[in-house]
Amino acid sequence: MNNQINLDNHKQIEETIRKIPKNDLHVHLDGSLRLETIIDLSKKEGLELPSFTVEGLNELVFKDQYENLGEYLKTFGYSGAVMQKPEHLERIAYELAIDNQEEGVRYIEIRFAPQLHINEIMELEAVLKAVNAGLEKAEKEFNRRPEIKNKQEPPFHYSIIVCAMRDFGPWSLFYKNFIASFTYSDRSDICKLASLELAKGAVKIRDKVGLPIMAFDLAGAEAGNPAADHWKAFQYVHEAFMHKTVHAGEDYGPESIFQAITELHADRIGHGYSLFDTSRIASDDITDKDAYISDITQYIADRRITIEICLTSNMQTNPSLERIEHHTFSKMLEHHLSTTFCTDNRTVSKTNVTNEILLALNNFQMDKKALRNCIIYGFKRSFFPGRYSQKRNYVRQCLDYYDKVTADIPVLHVD
Ligand SMILES: [Zn+2]
Repeated sequence: MNNQINLDNHKQIEETIRKIPKNDLHVHLDGSLRLETIIDLSKKEGLELPSFTVEGLNELVFKDQYENLGEYLKTFGYSGAVMQKPEHLERIAYELAIDNQEEGVRYIEIRFAPQLHINEIMELEAVLKAVNAGLEKAEKEFNRRPEIKNKQEPPFHYSIIVCAMRDFGPWSLFYKNFIASFTYSDRSDICKLASLELAKGAVKIRDKVGLPIMAFDLAGAEAGNPAADHWKAFQYVHEAFMHKTVHAGEDYGPESIFQAITELHADRIGHGYSLFDTSRIASDDITDKDAYISDITQYIADRRITIEICLTSNMQTNPSLERIEHHTFSKMLEHHLSTTFCTDNRTVSKTNVTNEILLALNNFQMDKKALRNCIIYGFKRSFFPGRYSQKRNYVRQCLDYYDKVTADIPVLHVD
């Protein structure tokens, strides 16, 4: 049976997908800058770039395909360099929210590692306030529109996720000084301590300043840097009722996902790509690999631990994934897992939410109900910055609007 949505009327479907209320729960601030802004700010700050034109940057740095993860990550050096002043952070956050609004994204959770931006002029609080100021400005402007005020359309909202790093080098003044201040600790101990410091700061600033810092994340290279190392930081935010999401199963096997759930209390998983891959189970102690995967999958499904799917990003960083149809998303659908479409990095991956949804519709057996579910899961499993009753109302409003927008499109409308 073919469950795929008939995309014959491609233009109409694309227009409708742009209009439906969408969300992006996994988008990195430093991977989503406008290229024009990187150029503009680099000029202002007297920074070197391989090219000062959008075309040149596209050709030399922000490529359609990357040779390896290293080349992919190199792009972040250029964006990070222009994110060292509060006014730049505010502008970048503002523009990211605007870009989302323009393609019908109503809810975003912006994540970034604030310690990458701590320097002589910005402490953690200043970094977070600057990003929040940009997002708040975009939110207020959008929600002033008449169609929002008269409740014909759902408003735009956002929250902030702070990322601790599994591993880091002297990538910012903060990290440089942090590493230099330890003589007798090894790198993994230093990373653990930096995570815990971030956890304490995030909770304090959330509570003291009232910023919508709703969740804690762990990013960076998985291999050799196990999630369990960061147990203390995650336990700290867990006890402060902050949500948790963890990059896991992106470039390491299922054990990484296991640790994210059992050690770090993850509410959501970033990528989860290798979930079903028994060949990537490293421990010899796991003798029944199928049972191991089955147990994790059952737990994720039952607890509705939502997987933040980043199709384009996975295609770019996983050389073994030659065809998108082979992405484990299809298996996740089969197992009725809670999944949601995310961009990961809008600029680095040259994508947006509309594009990710169309990619899924074009390449997987997804019926209209499955599509609607993915959008619903995104709103329902979001780390919404408000009371539960407000979240419920917002989710309802987004769903009603989804049904209204798709009402005249039989291939998309769910009765
Ligand atoms: Zn990510």
